[in-house]
Amino acid sequence: MNNWAGNLAYGTHDTTEAAGRGAVRACVQAHERVKVLGTRHSFNTIADSTDRFLTVAGLNDISIDPEAKTVTVGAGVTYGQLAPVLHRQGWALHNLASLPHISVAGSISTATHGSGETNGNLATAVSALQFVSANGDVERLSRARDGEIFDGVVVGLGALGVITRLTLDVEPAYLMRQYVYEDMPLADMTDHFDAIQASGYSVSLFWDWQASRVNTVWIKTREDARKPFDAPARFHGATLAATNLHPLPDLSAEHCTEQLGAVGPWHERLPHFRMGFMPSAGRELQAEYFVPRRNAVDAILAIETLKDQIGPYLFITEIRAIAADDFWLSPAGGDDCIAIHFTWKPDMDAVSRLLPRIERALAPYRARPHWGKLFTVPPATLRSLYPKLPAFVALAKRYDPTGKFRNAFLNEHIFTM
Ligand SMILES: Cc1cc2nc3c(=O)[nH]c(=O)nc-3n(C[C@H](O)[C@H](O)[C@H](O)COP(=O)(O)OP(=O)(O)OC[C@H]3O[C@@H](n4cnc5c(N)ncnc54)[C@H](O)[C@@H]3O)c2cc1C
Repeated sequence: MNNWAGNLAYGTHDTTEAAGRGAVRACVQAHERVKVLGTRHSFNTIADSTDRFLTVAGLNDISIDPEAKTVTVGAGVTYGQLAPVLHRQGWALHNLASLPHISVAGSISTATHGSGETNGNLATAVSALQFVSANGDVERLSRARDGEIFDGVVVGLGALGVITRLTLDVEPAYLMRQYVYEDMPLADMTDHFDAIQASGYSVSLFWDWQASRVNTVWIKTREDARKPFDAPARFHGATLAATNLHPLPDLSAEHCTEQLGAVGPWHERLPHFRMGFMPSAGRELQAEYFVPRRNAVDAILAIETLKDQIGPYLFITEIRAIAADDFWLSPAGGDDCIAIHFTWKPDMDAVSRLLPRIERALAPYRARPHWGKLFTVPPATLRSLYPKLPAFVALAKRYDPTGKFRNAFLNEHIFTM
């Protein structure tokens, strides 16, 4: 069994498919080591196991509470399953990632994010969650009741237990439009970085670093915004695209959500990629680093110095904004951030050589790596980047004293204290 991108063959085939919450408890109680697997979209070994996988795709109930403005979902639900149900009943989430194919539980466990300078990552929508801890107990925590511990639990990297149910904040459904601009001169991007980020509800810059111009700028704007984006023909030196585009040059825009300012539901504009279609390139590798928003332009220019080394191995970079949150292990914890993402060609040797160079260039900005993507940041550096890491380890030992939910990734990056 492989991960989605196929860069990783998992360490075991032994899998328990839990059809209900009782089956989750039984599996956890029956085995010494268990790793819960979501939709397998992580690029590193965070979800890997050499012992036994547990999958929860069967936990797929969705229940909306209009009074509380929440939706409660089983941990097997993907955003692609959830979003149309919400929309049909007049509700929406605050944001989505670039693709809807990923599970809610796996996404929040790694602090998956979309874009938008006022939008926290997807985990910030979680108001309550339920998980099975190592001895089979069902733990129920909520934002309102459990304060700081809740902030430790939500972005849990799969280390605390098997999430079986999540409650998410929802808001009234909204409509959006998406515009794409081509060829923004680098100087316009750096000189007007803040204005560009503020221009839409969600903004993405796609760039191959090869010329002194950003390839495309994607601006997603809400119809109910106080000042909706008015889509001028020219925007900071870039030109409004006249056809739908794919973020990766040369790939078919059929895979992408509708652009050209066509109005549509939130869940058909926030992700770049459409459910039912291959997102991104398919055979690829990904890495991503979060730097404080105040260092955004310096950090981008630091990487630009590596463009000749990066160029041959890169499909595309995406630059997005994420609002600060309070989760102990969130890369956006404590600071508004810019995330600099790399979609690499599937050349693991080259990428392994390049990542340390990128990490050195970003080190002055205390860059934190995405938990679900490739990185080589050493454990000691991770400890210095996450002051709450010791508290997280203590929390994990409380819910999982024997290390039932640990794997090699967690032992190396989290539990080497
Ligand atoms: C094409 C592509 C595009 C992407 N775009 C984005 C993006 O826009 N933004 C972004 O931030 N990331 C993005 N990612 C990364 C992706 O969002 C993360 O890797 C995310 O964790 C994937 O969720 P998953 O369900 O596939 O998790 P998996 O990879 O299956 O698992 C990830 C972690 O979650 C844990 N986990 C899963 N389910 C549970 C559960 N029920 N209980 C406890 N722990 C659980 C696993 O044990 C593991 O530790 C992208 C990945 C791909 C392949």
